[in-house]
Amino acid sequence: MAELPHLTDEERARYEWQMWTPDVGEDGQRKLKAARVLVSRLGGVGGTVAYYLAAAGVGKLILAHAGNIKRSDLNRQLLMTTAGLGQSRVRSAERRLTELNPNIEIHTTAENLSEDNAFALAGEADVLVDAAPLYSERFAMNLAAVRQNKPLVECAMYDLNAQLTTIIPGQTPCLACLYPDNPPDWKREFPVFGAVSGMIASMAAVEVIKLITGIGEPLSGQMLWCNLRTMTFRKLPVSRRSACHVCSTHWCLWFFRFLVSTPIILRPTSVGDDFAESLRTAEFPDDHQRRWEMSQGR
Ligand SMILES: [Zn+2]
Repeated sequence: MAELPHLTDEERARYEWQMWTPDVGEDGQRKLKAARVLVSRLGGVGGTVAYYLAAAGVGKLILAHAGNIKRSDLNRQLLMTTAGLGQSRVRSAERRLTELNPNIEIHTTAENLSEDNAFALAGEADVLVDAAPLYSERFAMNLAAVRQNKPLVECAMYDLNAQLTTIIPGQTPCLACLYPDNPPDWKREFPVFGAVSGMIASMAAVEVIKLITGIGEPLSGQMLWCNLRTMTFRKLPVSRRSACHVCSTHWCLWFFRFLVSTPIILRPTSVGDDFAESLRTAEFPDDHQRRWEMSQGR
């Protein structure tokens, strides 16, 4: 294991108050300095996660978000500014984060997560944070996390509801255990106050800090469900699906993956269709998982 980087005097002063956390100390801060975190999307959730991780001194942030700043972003996306309207979101985020903490390294890509870039981006990181609004992005991140055996903090919100869970490949359910397919009633645009997205983002940032420093207990195998209308917070268990097409270790599923990923042999359309149908009709959800499905959004 590589030796952890040392802190400069400036860094000791900057992080002094968080290093007072008894089980963090200077060793924990050095772990944060050595860490690399990928954040998918820099909206109301992901942008706030990135802001707190930059403030905490995570050594390298890898940030992915396509497009330019729109006026309707500004009620929640705290890394964007009115002066930056029409300009690149990742450029604005990089500028704001560097103003906050010039000690950290920031790598940006003006693309959203996809099957084309997820493996490469995740390969650069130790911990992954999913704050994307589209299931195609979320599934790409989940697949990369499981295949590369990297922890993934999943956070979402809709209206005044928010959800959070930490996926530890091999130990906890993955995203595809909870959602075998795109939820059909999902909407791309949704009601959101910045204070709600920021609330769950702050919790997600704490999860990342815990994973890196080893303090506390990650929210693994559980989903935190928050209803801010009533200020109700519940932690509910989530379970793996034995038929999960991403994380199951059953030999039939591995064989199926081999077939569909090897065009030379053949792409077994009929087998694949049957398999997909079996996933659609597989036993699913506990009531709370259904509720989670109904309340996704960023
Ligand atoms: Zn799974």
